[in-house]
Amino acid sequence: MTTNLLDFDLDGMAAFCERLGEKRFRATQLFRWIHQRGVADFDQMSDLAKSLRDKLKGCAHVAAPPVMSEHASRDGTVKWLFDMGGGNAIETVFIPEDDRGTLCISSQAGCAVGCRFCSTGHQGFSRNLTSGEIVAQLWFAEHALRARLGRSDRVITNVVMMGMGEPLQNYSALVPALRTMLADHGYGLSRRRVTVSTSGVVPMIDRLALDCPVALAVSLHAPFDALRDDLVPLNRKYPLHELLAACRGYLQYAPRDFITFEYCMLDGVNDQPEHARALIELVGPRGSDPVACKFNLIPFNPFPASGLKRSPQPQVAAFARMLGDAGIVTTVRKTRGDDIDAACGQLAGDVKDRTRVHERMARLRIVKTRSAS
Ligand code: SF4
Repeated sequence: MTTNLLDFDLDGMAAFCERLGEKRFRATQLFRWIHQRGVADFDQMSDLAKSLRDKLKGCAHVAAPPVMSEHASRDGTVKWLFDMGGGNAIETVFIPEDDRGTLCISSQAGCAVGCRFCSTGHQGFSRNLTSGEIVAQLWFAEHALRARLGRSDRVITNVVMMGMGEPLQNYSALVPALRTMLADHGYGLSRRRVTVSTSGVVPMIDRLALDCPVALAVSLHAPFDALRDDLVPLNRKYPLHELLAACRGYLQYAPRDFITFEYCMLDGVNDQPEHARALIELVGPRGSDPVACKFNLIPFNPFPASGLKRSPQPQVAAFARMLGDAGIVTTVRKTRGDDIDAACGQLAGDVKDRTRVHERMARLRIVKTRSAS
């Protein structure tokens, strides 16, 4: 088994080169070939000595996980499903807008947090992704999109760690991946354009502030501990007052001067005027201890096992108006890629369910071949 060079940030690549008896600056050359030019074939890396290329061919490779499917929406959204082995799949979604191209990346196969409104959470946790598997999503998408669009300049300008998984529960793989995204010889993304979204792993928010401060989004979803305990079970471990203290601390290091609070609008659950008032009191400029923040209200994507419904649009608009009137910048997330199930966990959920069907069939000794569709 050879080493996948996507696993290394620049320091890791330099250490790898030294182990091969090569100078550290070779790492920079390798990094540029792989990440800036999308080259995986060592023979094409023309400024590397032939002796080094031969060495690399014997001990290293550059590869993303196999793509199981690719769906392109009418609105330009593209969603890839990657095969992570063992019946696991992860999703990566590209969302083009007029002034940016955003890639939503997964950090785990499944998720252990188990938020009630999240289809990934309902699938349970399978495993952490490696650094290379996190970076591979960007590497693959950037170069596939350039080839498709006939472009040589950067297509992906923003990354959000908002796909499957809780990134701060896979911290040791996350940080080298972030460093590769930020590295001048890698993707050269600004810290303001790389966002880690967390459900509130408080100690790791503190660590991220010191190790690799990037933009931070927090899945809030409720203004009261009792409700948040139910919607985001991690709240039982790290309640709201601890989470907000971590947010205030993070702002001292953050590349942006605000935290983004994500708030999934659930009909009759967290979308009433009393919830908006409580949020304003909790974080808003008129609250007792404000947090510089913006709110992103997210229309819920219903799935059968959740037992939850999407808030009606007028309710979302009224909620947004209350927050806005209190001086909190509030946006409502547009739904994108509806025709390809681009919401978190939807395609991967299909794969998981199919896998379980096959497991059940095997147990029942039903000898029957099913199509994969
Ligand atoms: S919302 Fe995020 S943290 Fe919660 S279960 Fe889904 S993937 Fe995990």
